[in-house]
Amino acid sequence: MSEKIQNIPIAKPWMGEAEAEAATRAIMSGWITQGPEVAAFEQEFAAYVGAKYACAVSNCTTALHLALLAVGVQPGDEVITVSHSYIATANTIRYCGAIPVFVDIEPQTYNINPLLVEAAISDKTRAILVVHQMGMPCDLKAISDIARSRNLPVIEDAACAIGSEILWNGEWEKIGQPQTDIACFSFHPRKVIATGDGGMITTNNPEWDKQFRLWRQHGMSVPDTVRHGAKQVIFESYPMLGYNYRMTDIQAAVGREQLKRLPEILERRRYLARRYQEGLADVPGLKLPTQPAWAKSNWQSYCVRLPEGCDQVEVMQVLLDAGISTRRGIMCAHREPAYQREAWSCVGSLVESEQAQERAIILPLFHQMTEAEQDRAIEALKTACQIPA
Ligand SMILES: *Cc1c(COP(=O)(O)O)cnc(C)c1O
Repeated sequence: MSEKIQNIPIAKPWMGEAEAEAATRAIMSGWITQGPEVAAFEQEFAAYVGAKYACAVSNCTTALHLALLAVGVQPGDEVITVSHSYIATANTIRYCGAIPVFVDIEPQTYNINPLLVEAAISDKTRAILVVHQMGMPCDLKAISDIARSRNLPVIEDAACAIGSEILWNGEWEKIGQPQTDIACFSFHPRKVIATGDGGMITTNNPEWDKQFRLWRQHGMSVPDTVRHGAKQVIFESYPMLGYNYRMTDIQAAVGREQLKRLPEILERRRYLARRYQEGLADVPGLKLPTQPAWAKSNWQSYCVRLPEGCDQVEVMQVLLDAGISTRRGIMCAHREPAYQREAWSCVGSLVESEQAQERAIILPLFHQMTEAEQDRAIEALKTACQIPA
């Protein structure tokens, strides 16, 4: 009892002096909201994922809202998506007054089942909003084939998927290029790189990019950065209803440093995911995550499905007692009280979504996690599943 065992968190951002100095640089510059650091972060982000345009916003939820507006989602429209996601995915559809039409997931990848999409399309369908859940790319090829044949735009909720890759026309490409129409990223601390809060929208469509820039700043015709440097008096106007969805320069300065760390972060996460795969391979009945041959996850989360007969809460409690944080499987929006009131519909059952929520748990995985810590998590999970260590 003498030795204090360190608790292992579920996730932890990897930040240091470089981020602190970057924040200081922004603060001391005298320009702290959206300005030169945001512009530089956008360029560097676009170059990293291979997109023509990247527009920084306050978070991924606001990014998704603007993406849906850009493709013309209006009140009464339907948007096909999954319930099995963080609730923000469905919420953004409701912000537009549109109705989320939930389709079920594939149990192996926890991503939208493309075979169920066609049946969910109606006259009112305005867009398909897919999620790369936990950083694992969804079957974009199948989805985009369906979408193209129906002339529907595809938006990617890539909140968790910075650095993930997909095999596209024979080449490995980063998620967010985007392979479809618009992709939205998050820089919340639970994601792979963080700016406190923050989001990014990528597209190859210059009109949409222009729209995003107007909407994120109150619909203002002349940005404050331009007025600030002007030699003549300029008055701005507000030709449309806009929002305040800006990212600050303090956040962007931090984001630029995080982007530099990303390759190292990805290498470490992939190494730790392989180690989990090896360490847990012999646990009877435990289902480890499946990575399709055409996908490379960034392993934003490492999710396992418990063996039959193992109680989710009991297993999580055994791990917690051993100082190891876990989370249950991804939530289902349609089961939350908010969606007793909000409009939604579904085609077929959502049984795979519900079972994934009830039967899966997310294990700790973060850059600074040591092999010894990971071994503790592996042993504790084996014990919890009643496997002799
Ligand atoms: C985290 C997350 C969001 C929300 O991102 P924020 O930046 O916190 O708004 C949306 N969708 C998914 C799938 C997420 O994991």
